[in-house]
Amino acid sequence: MTQTKILLDESEIPTHWYNVVSDFPNPPSSPLGPDGQPIGPEALAPLFPMALIEQEVSAERWIEIPEEVREIYQMWRPSPLFRAHRLEKALGTPAKIYYKYEGVSPAGSHKPNTAVAQAYYNKQAGITKLTTETGAGQWGCSLALAGQMFGIDVRVFMVKVSYDQKPFRRSMMQTWGADVFASPTNLTNAGRQILAEDPESPGSLGIAISEAIEEAASRDDTNYALGSVLNHVLLHQTVIGQEAQKQFAKIGDSPDMIFAPCGGGSNFGGVAFPFFADKAAGKGKDVRLVAVEPSSCPTLTRGHYAYDFGDSIGMTPLMLQYTLGHDFVPPSIHAGGLRYHGDSCLVSQMYKEGLIEAVAVPQIATFEAGVTFSRSEGILPAPESNHAIRAVIDEALRCKESAEEKTLFFNLSGHGHFDMASYDKYFAGELVDYEYPQEEIERALHNLPKVAAC
Ligand SMILES: *Cc1c(COP(=O)(O)O)cnc(C)c1O
Repeated sequence: MTQTKILLDESEIPTHWYNVVSDFPNPPSSPLGPDGQPIGPEALAPLFPMALIEQEVSAERWIEIPEEVREIYQMWRPSPLFRAHRLEKALGTPAKIYYKYEGVSPAGSHKPNTAVAQAYYNKQAGITKLTTETGAGQWGCSLALAGQMFGIDVRVFMVKVSYDQKPFRRSMMQTWGADVFASPTNLTNAGRQILAEDPESPGSLGIAISEAIEEAASRDDTNYALGSVLNHVLLHQTVIGQEAQKQFAKIGDSPDMIFAPCGGGSNFGGVAFPFFADKAAGKGKDVRLVAVEPSSCPTLTRGHYAYDFGDSIGMTPLMLQYTLGHDFVPPSIHAGGLRYHGDSCLVSQMYKEGLIEAVAVPQIATFEAGVTFSRSEGILPAPESNHAIRAVIDEALRCKESAEEKTLFFNLSGHGHFDMASYDKYFAGELVDYEYPQEEIERALHNLPKVAAC
């Protein structure tokens, strides 16, 4: 009998986070201020504690994980690595399929890996309140949980369309003590400005970020926390890939291809970067790293590589990234997550330089893949995770055609227990595929902030 679950001991939780910048062939881009000049770390001080700002700009290869953070990680880490025997059989593929399951965290996704670390450093810096945004609700839950663990108040601006569609994610945040508001709100200038233009605005991540930043910047006791995109967030997620490396070593295998859903890039970076380190060092297989995004929000595959804001109003520094334009408002027909207009600078640069790959997949096919997976493997995946599953199944079917015994590995970033309304819509045939229109992509180009060409 070959193994199904590959488990690690608690003592094997990584002691350090891995910083991919240390293996970059070219230096990472620097964020720019409103004048188009590079900003120093101090520009971020109204929003983040110094320890996180240092991580944001660090080129150190390894950054030690504080003992208190590792102790909390022990609640759900190390997460299991599974071999998907039953899925392989259902597909009739000679490929081996493995997945790392991050749905074992209390919030149900990978996001607490960084939420706990961020709450820890804010607590150390004497911060008593954190503001944040949430789309589908996973990040808001994770930060609410982490805030509870460190005695920090959490205020969440939840994208209005999700607030209405996902009431139980809201009650989960409230259970963990957070205040939750449907964004755009009347509480901030940013929210009021959006509402003045469109009182029926469904909201967007970019708008909710503007609101959360505005509030954090205006108060000394309050900081802001972001659930993805930033370098320090991707750094914290590298516990996933490091554990997976140990798990693969135990069974004497290693992936040929790694897949992860990609919204802001944090679970992709978390699982892929430690493997990139080996690749950069010329060790082991030349593993292919594939970010999977929705074709309704095709940031990497069809976006512009340009300096753009991280929020809708233009309050953040300008960051060099793939973007659909900071004023992107996703169609509210699209039920899944992964609806951010931009992407991590690190992931964007790696894509630009050909170090990683990306594919976009349409919505209905992702649910179809998720249901196939669930009927074989039992776990009911988050709609975001279904994107990676789609890409893995497609590859496994190609392996069937070519009789290749590749080892495929994906990050099952979370469970979908709070996403059953989306599954209901899929079963009722109410989901639609939405190809992001080319005119919109061209329009975004005109609204990009004007800085020196890159
Ligand atoms: C937030 C989330 C994602 C996508 O976000 P990234 O920043 O790209 O990691 C993927 N899967 C789940 C379950 C999520 O909650």
